[in-house]
Amino acid sequence: MPRSVKDIDLRGKRVLIRVDFNVPIKNGVIGDDTRIRSSLPTIQYALEQGAKSVILASHLGRPKGKPNPEYSLQPIASHLSTLLNRPVTFDDPKADGVVLLENLRFNPGEEKNDPEFAARLAAMADVYINDAFGSAHRAHASTEGIVRHVKEAGAGLLMAAEVEYLGRVLAAPDRPFVAILGGAKVSDKLEVIQNLVPRVDALLIGGAMAYTFFKARGLNVGKSLVEDDLLDAAREVEEMARTRNLRFELPVDHVVAAKLEAGIPTMTLAVEDRTIGDRMGLDIGPKTIERYRSIIATAQTVTWNGPMGVFEIDAFAAGTIEVAKAVAAVDGVTVIGGGDSIAAVAKAGVTDRITHISTGGGASLEFLGGRKLPGVEALTRDNQQFSA
Ligand code: ADP
Ligand code: MG
Repeated sequence: MPRSVKDIDLRGKRVLIRVDFNVPIKNGVIGDDTRIRSSLPTIQYALEQGAKSVILASHLGRPKGKPNPEYSLQPIASHLSTLLNRPVTFDDPKADGVVLLENLRFNPGEEKNDPEFAARLAAMADVYINDAFGSAHRAHASTEGIVRHVKEAGAGLLMAAEVEYLGRVLAAPDRPFVAILGGAKVSDKLEVIQNLVPRVDALLIGGAMAYTFFKARGLNVGKSLVEDDLLDAAREVEEMARTRNLRFELPVDHVVAAKLEAGIPTMTLAVEDRTIGDRMGLDIGPKTIERYRSIIATAQTVTWNGPMGVFEIDAFAAGTIEVAKAVAAVDGVTVIGGGDSIAAVAKAGVTDRITHISTGGGASLEFLGGRKLPGVEALTRDNQQFSA
């Protein structure tokens, strides 16, 4: 575990916090501000502890190493000021109070992890806190390099929660441990599947990703989404699952339609049913929901990433909504990640009954895929250095 912000004395210090303010901004107007809000506990904690200044650093979009007003963090300064109910100074690292730096990626040194840029960032502060789990899978100057130059470093509250829950799920899950994977593509999650097969008691597959497995088994999948270059990989995963003692579950029935469109007539078919013709599978069916529900009900640990169907359209949302409710009813640790999965859980109205909502996106997938994240490793290294 990396050192936590709670283990560091912040009183009178200049504290640089790497946050994830990579939020949608159009013509200066901020869209969904969840990422900004999720960093507030760490910012407020630093202020309560008497930090002299709290310098916030983030990237926004892909300005490719050059200043570009379209990607300026300036609109966030005033929004943040409202959320914190105190002044926020923009881009003046020497100021006291709360400071928001301009987009880190305006400097080419950020993504190159340039030591000089990392040292410049480090020189602004006495303490470095990383609360940007969503950027921890990248070794950039503000997530990795800076740790080599700053006096003290630790994880923010959000980062610490991510590492705790995802780490616990991988290292010592209460059993039965059930993983649910769905969403659009197998390729996004192949590494996660491979890493979870040896660890879980049951792996439930849904969403479009099921069709690559079905096609690999020789079933007629109509026009359902398939990744043809992954048929061998799908067979290998099934083979790997067979040699282990786990329940590897694919849907037994599904909701199909001629097109991905609201209002279109639908049918529920067994997955072997060849009358699918050239329709496409867009949700898991009622028998599958029942099966998955009964497996989830036995779980003490659940991870879920990827919707069971096209939940954005009501006719194809039942599978995802019912699975969300089943996960919410579990007493043990439940962890959900992925932008669309989080939206689906919100649509089901059960967000506050989930133990941990992982904001990490790519980072949580890499973590669950068994990879070490440079941003987390840097803080862990630093920890050893201090305790030596
Ligand atoms: P997350 O963002 O949670 O990681 P993904 O981005 O991998 O999830 O996948 C979410 C998308 O997958 C949703 O937009 C959903 O409509 C789509 N999807 C799920 N099932 C199917 C399906 N059977 N056919 C086509 N698209 C699907
Ligand atoms: Mg997505």
